[in-house]
Amino acid sequence: MKASGHALVTGGGSGIGAAVAKTLVNDGLRVTLLGRTLAPLQRLAADHPGHMAAVQADVADADAVAMAFAQARANFGPITVLVNSAGQASSAPFLKTDATLWQQMLSVNLTGTFICTQAVLPDMLQAGWGRIINIASTAGLAGYAYVAAYCAAKHGVVGLTRALALELARKGITVNAVCPGYTETELLRDSIANVIAKTGRTEEAARAEFAAGNPQGRIVQPEEVADTVRWLCSAAAASINGQSIAVCGGEIMN
Ligand code: NAP
Repeated sequence: MKASGHALVTGGGSGIGAAVAKTLVNDGLRVTLLGRTLAPLQRLAADHPGHMAAVQADVADADAVAMAFAQARANFGPITVLVNSAGQASSAPFLKTDATLWQQMLSVNLTGTFICTQAVLPDMLQAGWGRIINIASTAGLAGYAYVAAYCAAKHGVVGLTRALALELARKGITVNAVCPGYTETELLRDSIANVIAKTGRTEEAARAEFAAGNPQGRIVQPEEVADTVRWLCSAAAASINGQSIAVCGGEIMN
């Protein structure tokens, strides 16, 4: 049931990415963590000497990504698992969504996924095996108010996933999206802080509102998302391709 080889996890220093990295390294893979800030990546990598390493890049910067991926290959060899978890979620009413916010959401969430996937694909084609897993969102499958740019970017990630899955279907490579609902990470804590600042609600009330969006009445844990990624990496999931798997307690039903 184990996947083999070398996994690169973008956004691997925190939240869902860090949970995925820990799960995959415990399964026996070598794991490279990629993000813009080295310190948290290095702290996590230091817990797994010889099995985990950190590289620095902004996923929206193709040259920086190429250099970081080259460094990753020099450490642990060809990359056969890519988990695109780097992401940001800024909110604003549509008429206050300026070009900068719009572009930022598309750059990090969608173009970053495109750039990292292009950077890794030759390794997978050469190996005749690969797993590409995009951490999209329930916002890639449904609309939510005040996050038009984020929603558009995540819908784009789902579209990219579907198209590439078909293109690579006969190459031993699967491409899937995992779509979490509200998950207990820094990104959610920022969203809760934003609601508190804008509405004057207590933290408890703001948090309860996010939890209420999930039919199970709770916030998803990052480890639950990581377990879905782990399964998609396994041989048992070889026929799962082009799917967008919602991890959200039933909030979204495909
Ligand atoms: P998080 O803890 O804030 O993690 C996001 C990670 O992405 C950070 O490690 C950050 O590190 C990295 N990152 C951000 N911009 C980057 C860039 N331009 N280049 C490289 N790395 C970048 O949040 P999270 O919740 O784990 O988010 C992971 C993914 O899950 C995101 O794609 C998010 O959209 C998705 N998601 C989250 C939720 C949720 O409720 N938490 C729900 C659905 C989907 P640096 O800042 O150091 O670069």
